[in-house]
Amino acid sequence: ATMPPLLSTIANAGRHGVLIKSAVALEKFGKTDLVAFDKTGTLTQGTPRVSEIEPVRAAGMSTDRLLSLAAAAERPSEHPLARALVAAAHDRDVPMPHSEDFTSTPGRGVTAIVESAQVRVGSPALLDDVRPAFSEHLAEARTLVRGLEDAGRTAVVVIVDDVPVGVLALADQLRPGAREAVAKLTAMTGRSPIVLTGDNERAARRLADEVGISDVRAALLPDGKVAEVRRLQEQGHRVLFVGDGVNDAPAMAAAELGVAMGRHGSDLALETADAVIVRDELGTLPKVIGLSWRAHRVVK
Ligand code: ADP
Ligand code: MG
Repeated sequence: ATMPPLLSTIANAGRHGVLIKSAVALEKFGKTDLVAFDKTGTLTQGTPRVSEIEPVRAAGMSTDRLLSLAAAAERPSEHPLARALVAAAHDRDVPMPHSEDFTSTPGRGVTAIVESAQVRVGSPALLDDVRPAFSEHLAEARTLVRGLEDAGRTAVVVIVDDVPVGVLALADQLRPGAREAVAKLTAMTGRSPIVLTGDNERAARRLADEVGISDVRAALLPDGKVAEVRRLQEQGHRVLFVGDGVNDAPAMAAAELGVAMGRHGSDLALETADAVIVRDELGTLPKVIGLSWRAHRVVK
């Protein structure tokens, strides 16, 4: 028996590595006129590496101790930056003490108790919450962050019992095929894709330049990504949002079409998405838009 055309198109998309959850989602691919990408884990490979470990000198902690505390606090996290810190601790044979009371805030970072101290690891925005009593530490941490971000790195701060003790830098690599996918999507939707990221502006711009995107909206919390999607929709756009993290799920739900990265995607992202790019190949996106165009010409 022959399959109905929509079903055979969904099966065909599956063979290309894109799992489409409904016929409605398939149709929406063809109607997309603006693609918005998350950065970390979507446009990048999502396997960042620790490139620098910089203790705040006023706090007097060794680089090994700094990495050890940060990795211990991050161990339960599934965030790509967390996995990089844990991997770096393994690589350097640095011990990872037991941690408890772990909590994570999407787009911000994590908190845990390690050896009776409260350890916070995350975005430099965490420095805004530190009591001004440690102004020397704060000033030094901010200088370290600025230097690393100027070099295009993602900087993560470490705060122990409300004292900034160090900054770690992470570098990620462009996902192979991202540049080609962006060029094809630009041609197909008639508009260049944009980047919505929680990372800092300079790291985000550097990466966006490499893939050929000029519209970058950085330092966004999960709700900030939603607000950007809504604003684009109010301008009349039908937005396809691609992401991988827990922090991306609200924007996926708000967009016309939410797409998750299959390999690196968090469970929440996979559940929320209307479609999943199973092997994380961005080149499949323009392919599926083409399939949708053809299917709907057939159905009409
Ligand atoms: P993106 O939008 O690029 O995927 P996220 O929203 O996941 O980035 O993260 C934004 C920023 O929040 C990161 O650059 C980092 O500074 C901080 N962050 C979030 N989660 C963590 C974590 N588990 N450990 C350290 N930093 C984190
Ligand atoms: Mg991400």
